[in-house]
Amino acid sequence: MTEPLLDIREIDVFYGPIQALRGISMSIAPGERVALVGANGAGKTTTLRTISGLLKPTKGQVLFDGEPIQGMKANKVVQRGVAHLPEGRELFSGLTVEENIRCGFWSQRRGGKSFREQRDRVMDHFPILRERAKQAAGTLSGGEQQMLGVARALMSDPRLLVVDELSLGLAPKIVAQLFDILGEINAQGTAVLIVEQFVHMALANTDRAYVLAKGEVALEGASSALLADPNLIATYLGEGAAASGPSSAAATPAAVSRSVRSRPASSSNGAKRAKAAARKR
Ligand code: ATP
Repeated sequence: MTEPLLDIREIDVFYGPIQALRGISMSIAPGERVALVGANGAGKTTTLRTISGLLKPTKGQVLFDGEPIQGMKANKVVQRGVAHLPEGRELFSGLTVEENIRCGFWSQRRGGKSFREQRDRVMDHFPILRERAKQAAGTLSGGEQQMLGVARALMSDPRLLVVDELSLGLAPKIVAQLFDILGEINAQGTAVLIVEQFVHMALANTDRAYVLAKGEVALEGASSALLADPNLIATYLGEGAAASGPSSAAATPAAVSRSVRSRPASSSNGAKRAKAAARKR
């Protein structure tokens, strides 16, 4: 069996007295695409922040390439090969596209390429950003800003790209385009872990998925199998959706079962049809 690239073993994470993660275990194989889904407050962002060194577990281990990285400083985790695109992107809006890209390069992994070489390689995925190289990041459209966030993360030449809410504030058509770009990046060998409120899109674009509920892994399995089981998914996403109000409309049971009903037989068609369904909404 292939050694996992990322191996999370029974981690507990607290914010002061509040326990956010309870004995979470999950793994990602090299080059795999994995989704992490769950209701609001389930612990998805906390899991990503723990992987990238922004939070330290009180119990358990996070192994990357067989080495423990839990509690390691975030810049060291980047050097090991993990890049994190946080929710909300956190770009430097007054800096140009090119300057933001350069910010992602400072923590390049050892033995890496020159800045120009890496920039050119990354920009091949984002022709629009090439055209906008001298433009301030804050003047880009939302979709372009998200592309810039992904591009900046890729500048560290990661083996694992961790993406929190790719779709945040974006039109479904743009989200579909971003998922296509993540697919290209993954096809070149980078493993991808995504947290995504558009659950149907997350499942249609990944190999496996974990469902979190109240800080625990409630389910795991092939994304196609989870997509095929509306009751299972609705149970876990419905719980949080009910508690969190209309802002989480994309993850309500009705929305999820709509997307599951539209699931076709083949996975590549599945991705296309799920995208088409999302565009219509
Ligand atoms: P969402 O989809 O709403 O972003 P999530 O699944 O990403 O949710 P987390 O943000 O990881 O969930 O939150 C997990 C739990 O930890 C929640 O109960 C949340 O209220 C709590 N929490 C998150 N951040 C903090 C913080 N800075 N201080 C205290 N509690 C926090």
